[in-house]
Amino acid sequence: MAAIEMKNIVKKYGDGFPAVNDISIDVADGEFLILVGPSGCGKSTLLRMIVGLEDITDGDMMIGGKRVNDLAPRDRNLAMVFQNYALYPHLTVYENIAFPLRLAGASDSEVDQKVREASKTLELDEHLERKPGNLSGGQRQRVAMGRAIVREAEAFLFDEPLSNLDAKLRGQMRTEISRLQKRLGITTVYVTHDQTEAMTLGDRVAVLKRGILQQLATPRELYENPANLFVAGFIGSPPMNFLPAKVNGDMVELPFGTVRMPADKAQKAQGKDLLIAGIRPEHFEDASVVDPDKVTDEATFRAKVDVVEWLGNEAYAYVPFEAPPEVQKQLQQLERDLDGESLRTQLVVSLDGASRISEGDEATIWVDARKIHLFDPSTGDNLT
Ligand code: ATP
Repeated sequence: MAAIEMKNIVKKYGDGFPAVNDISIDVADGEFLILVGPSGCGKSTLLRMIVGLEDITDGDMMIGGKRVNDLAPRDRNLAMVFQNYALYPHLTVYENIAFPLRLAGASDSEVDQKVREASKTLELDEHLERKPGNLSGGQRQRVAMGRAIVREAEAFLFDEPLSNLDAKLRGQMRTEISRLQKRLGITTVYVTHDQTEAMTLGDRVAVLKRGILQQLATPRELYENPANLFVAGFIGSPPMNFLPAKVNGDMVELPFGTVRMPADKAQKAQGKDLLIAGIRPEHFEDASVVDPDKVTDEATFRAKVDVVEWLGNEAYAYVPFEAPPEVQKQLQQLERDLDGESLRTQLVVSLDGASRISEGDEATIWVDARKIHLFDPSTGDNLT
């Protein structure tokens, strides 16, 4: 196993905008790194440069401390698991796993020992005589991983391996990949456009947009401290609310009312006329179910609830509002960046199961002002 270091990696196809623009990421030995972003952000290109399927325009690709820019894919000793797993349909599970060993000229006894060991780890030992066509998607995936394990590859690379599966199977496979990766401790780079996969699988997540690294952090850090509007809007479901805001001292004026923010955060946003406040749905609440000590005029506002969606253990209340044109423009740009994902100009409030707010109510909404982010509308940077 090996660490992977990407140093100022650039990829240009022709004269256009670089598909990968000066990206530096160190993946530690044994780490699970996710590359995530909307279609066309450059994540597959970056992965293909690690494997050697794509030339590197500029920068250094290091694997296990060695520069591999000019090494052929077969000499990098990495195992790539594709969407379709690339199994040989006419070979048994045993022979599929054995394939790289046979290619390398291993003896029968070595092949047998390694295949049996890997298939035990992957719980495939009962299926060794079956053909891929008779296996479930999950089992096929494990065969593909088995092939990587017997090769004793330096790292696993996955390119959207679950995107063809239905939601239920995708969930199961996600857990399985996570469990296996931890058990095997193999350095892994995993490409996805799915933020749930990114958040649940990765030790760290690199968020890309148009070839540029937006943020590299743990899932929790991305969620709690997004570097900019793009990351804030991309991570989280339902997405973070974006509201026009003005800051005066410690007070922040939102479309529904004015709330007091922690002084140190408000301080960082002084001197700007207009800001975009980012508040996640769960950082609002029906004031009637919040600890009464927290419910002050400076932490609540009144709002007319338009729609309530009840999901059993929680509910979402929707409150429409009008954003001024400057903010609308910024949000429309963000929607384009997020691949058309809609950031409707309505507030989404996550309600506790105990809340009795219903449609048409004029309700008192509490906001956890410690959790408000303030973004610069011109750069999108998170100021807080
Ligand atoms: P997706 O999720 O849709 O696969 P991605 O984030 O993996 O997207 P890439 O496939 O890495 O994105 O593509 C990044 C950019 O490079 C895109 O603008 C794409 O059109 C461009 N690109 C990719 N491959 C080539 C190629 N062979 N020739 C020219 N441009 C390319």
